[in-house]
Parts: sequence; structure tokens; C-alpha cells
Amino acid sequence: MAIVAEIKKQKKQPVRGMMDNVMEQFNSAADKINLHPSIRKILSITNNEIIVNFPVKMDNGDVEIFRGYRVQHNNALGPYKGGLRYHPTVDIDAARALAMWMTWKTSLAGLPYGGGKGGIQLDPSKYSESELERITRRFTFALADNIGPEHDIPAPDVNTNSQTMAWMADTYMSTRPPAERTANQHIVTGKPAGSGGLEGRDRATGFGVFLSIKFWAEKNNINLTDKKFIVQGFGNVGYWAAYFLEKEGAKLVAVQDAFGSIENQKGISVEDLFNYTKANKGSIVDFPDAMSLNKDDFFATHCDICIPAALGNQITADNAMEIKATLVAEGANGPTNVEGEKILLDRGITIIPDILCNSGGVVGSYYEWLQNRNGELWQLDEVMAKLEKKLRESFNKVYDYSQKESMDLRTAAYCIAIQRIERAYIERGIFP
Ligand code: NAD
Repeated sequence: MAIVAEIKKQKKQPVRGMMDNVMEQFNSAADKINLHPSIRKILSITNNEIIVNFPVKMDNGDVEIFRGYRVQHNNALGPYKGGLRYHPTVDIDAARALAMWMTWKTSLAGLPYGGGKGGIQLDPSKYSESELERITRRFTFALADNIGPEHDIPAPDVNTNSQTMAWMADTYMSTRPPAERTANQHIVTGKPAGSGGLEGRDRATGFGVFLSIKFWAEKNNINLTDKKFIVQGFGNVGYWAAYFLEKEGAKLVAVQDAFGSIENQKGISVEDLFNYTKANKGSIVDFPDAMSLNKDDFFATHCDICIPAALGNQITADNAMEIKATLVAEGANGPTNVEGEKILLDRGITIIPDILCNSGGVVGSYYEWLQNRNGELWQLDEVMAKLEKKLRESFNKVYDYSQKESMDLRTAAYCIAIQRIERAYIERGIFP
């Protein structure tokens, strides 16, 4: 495809980028469903790519320039929706790929949304809380009317959280005319519950990861009690997935985060580890009730279920042969690259793909958006019940399609997602 060739030219190193992965996954499903060639062309490129460079005053009085991205892939089904990431790996390639994944994810979940993604290329650990606040507010201001509650609705992602969303919402609403301010509360989702956020949005993604594993176990008559699992990334997604799995009787035996890796085959208490990281600048390193593990040995740890819940391109040809789990549940976006996936599938390992496995987050975001739009306040128990019902429907849809068509779960998920968008284009036609 032309776009892949163009992106390859831009890259400094000849390594496979996330965009190559998402395009290969898309093309493989598009071939299977015989996607209309015009629609394949439309979906192969992004609608809009916004790059903003903006100055921010640091605590010491110096001014630093930051580069922020927002890529809007497709809005055939509704406003662009997707997270904002603060990480050194954020660039246009990553933002494009992540935006495309969002289009498939929202379509698969049956939501009235398209896909977008963005962020700032920075290491947040190098900045103070007040610097991060000014960076976030100025980024929001720089994005200006390129985002909007009925146009493009950001949410948290890696290294951004409910506090980041509260700053964004406040900045965006403060720059509207007074009478319109409150009506713009749904400019972002993932806000704190006290500021228009949804009860349970914090755990929605991890809960969805857990549910996907539970639904898969039910289909295969597997009891999760005492099943061993490992988690890469102990942030929002990794922690909550581990929390719910432990409640179901499964045992957390290894964790890796940005700072190190730990293992204890007898089990690691999720709550103890969480409290430890709170007091240890977010790091799992030196957790007393586990031994430290070599970074490269993490994926080879003995376990039944592997949950990558950190960054993309983590399971590759370099480590896929070593994975002991029989199930990989993708909490992160794009954690398994195409070569890694081929090896896992050849070895008979099931992958619950990201666009299904971590879709609890965007479904939770949709409920928050509806809550704000309708001026309602939803209770935690109704949110969790609605999430479970919706995610079960999605899981069954993908599982049944994969069985019927004899294909892996990712290809099945892509086929369903792309067909829904294809239908919208065919019904509406192309303007003018
Ligand atoms: P987070 O910032 O809360 O946590 C990220 C975790 O990953 C941290 O524990 C961090 O230390 C760890 N990490 C970072 N770099 C790492 C590395 N190189 N090796 C190992 N661990 C590393 O982020 P999050 O919100 O939990 O997001 C995690 C993943 O889930 C991302 O891929 C994100 O796109 C995806 N996701 C998040 C949501 C959501 O609602 N937050 C929804 C869908 C998908």
C-alpha cells in the first residue's frame, strides 16, 4: 500500500512500526471480507493529522517547546474517539496506528464513534505536577476547535489519567462563551467522578480485560481458580485486570513495569503490590514479597495467562516462542506484532485481540459521554452491569464469527468492525 511505503520512508530505523502492524491486520481482514476497493482506499488513510508545537513556562522560568499530535482516522460512524498518551515513543506513526485501532474498536463495540488518538512526546517523570498541568492546558488550547464534544473526544491513555482529563475539560470549557461552558463537559471522558466523570470508568478497561478472559474460559470449560497469570504494565489497565482476576481466584505470579520485573510463583497480592507502588513512585521494583526477574525473561515466566498491558510491539518474533501461557489477553493496544502473532497462533496459543479485549475503556467512556450529554449521574452497579452485558455481546459476536469462519479472533474482530463501516459508506455514498 502507498501509505505504508510513505511511512517506511519517514522512519529512521528499518524496524517494523505499529502502523505496519495495523495495516497488515487491516489488509488481511479486508481480503477475507472482499472489502469494496473504494472503502479500502478510504480506510487505509487518516482523515486529519494535527501537529501542534506550543511553548510552556517551566518551574525555573525557562520556556520549553512541546510537540503534540492528534490523528483523526475515520468518523463514518460518529465523532472521533480515543486517548491521549504522554510518552517518549509518541510520534506520527504511533498516533496514526493507534487512531486506526480506535476506529476498529469503536465499530466492533457497536458505538456511534470513529477513531482518533494523540499525545505528546515527553517523559512525564521529568516534569513537576504543575508543569504537567501547564503542558496539558496549553496542549488543549493549541488543539482548540480541532477537538469538540460532538467532534473529537479525547480520553486517558499511557501516563495520562483522570487529573489530566479534569485539566483538559476545565481549559476547554473556560475558553467557551459562558452560556456554553457546561454543555461542553463531554469534551473528554475519563474525568474524575466529582467533575462529570463516570463511576467505574477508572476500572472499566481492566474489568473488560478480565471479562474477556472469563468469557473465553466459560466457552472452553476452564475454571480460573488457581490459574497463574502475568501482567506487563501495572498501571490503570494492568492493575484493574489483576484485581478482578485475583477476586475470581486466579494467581498473579509475575509483573513487569517500566522500572523492572518481579516474580513469585506462590502468588503476588495485587492490593499489596498496588499499595507498594503508590509509596514507591509508581514502581514495582524491590517489592518485598517477590524476587526480581531479568527483563528479558519476563515473557518466559511459567503461567497460564499472559496480559500485556503496557505498550505496543512487546510480543515479537524475539520472545513469542518462549511464552508459556495458553492465552494472551491484550490489555494494551498493539502489544503483539504480526510476526509474534504468527508464532503464537502456530503454537496453538489463543489471542484475545486488543480491539475486543480492552474495549471496556471506550464503552465506559461512551457511558460517561451519554451521562454528561443527558445531564444524568449513573450509579456504579448499573455501570458495571451495563458494561458486562455489552462486553459479553461483543465477545460472543467475535467468538461465534471466528468459529463459523474458522479464523483467529483478531481477524474475526476486524472483519466485523470493517463490515459495519463499509455498510455505512455504502448506504450513504460519497459526497458530492
Ligand atoms: P498507565 O500509564 O496507567 O500504565 C502503564 C504501565 O505500563 C505502567 O505500569 C508503566 O510502568 C508500564 N510500562 C511503561 N513502559 C513500559 C515498558 N517499556 N515495559 C514494561 N512496562 C512498561 O497506562 P494504561 O492506561 O494502563 O494503558 C496501558 C495500555 O492499555 C496502553 O497500551 C493503552 O493504550 C491501553 N489502553 C488503555 C485504556 C485506558 O482506559 N486507560 C483503554 C484501552 C487501552
